[in-house]
Amino acid sequence: MIVLDRLPSELKLADRFYPSSQLCSQCGHQQKMPLSARRYECSNCGFEADRDFNAAVNKRKLCESVGRVPADFKPLEKISYRQ
Ligand SMILES: [Zn+2]
Repeated sequence: MIVLDRLPSELKLADRFYPSSQLCSQCGHQQKMPLSARRYECSNCGFEADRDFNAAVNKRKLCESVGRVPADFKPLEKISYRQ
């Protein structure tokens, strides 16, 4: 059990239809992503990343767009670009 009032955190809710896993976190292109696809591969710019990582970056950008940036957000290193 996590007691949120003892942690230095702030809860932000995204709209339930915000397409965090369908948006390319690099160029903003939106494409369909079947639930079975675990890797995001952008058909527009070639960006590739783990599906959940890409969605997390998009949620961070959503926070930034309203002036809130998670202080402890640290990107993972498993990102690659198709050449
Ligand atoms: Zn892209």
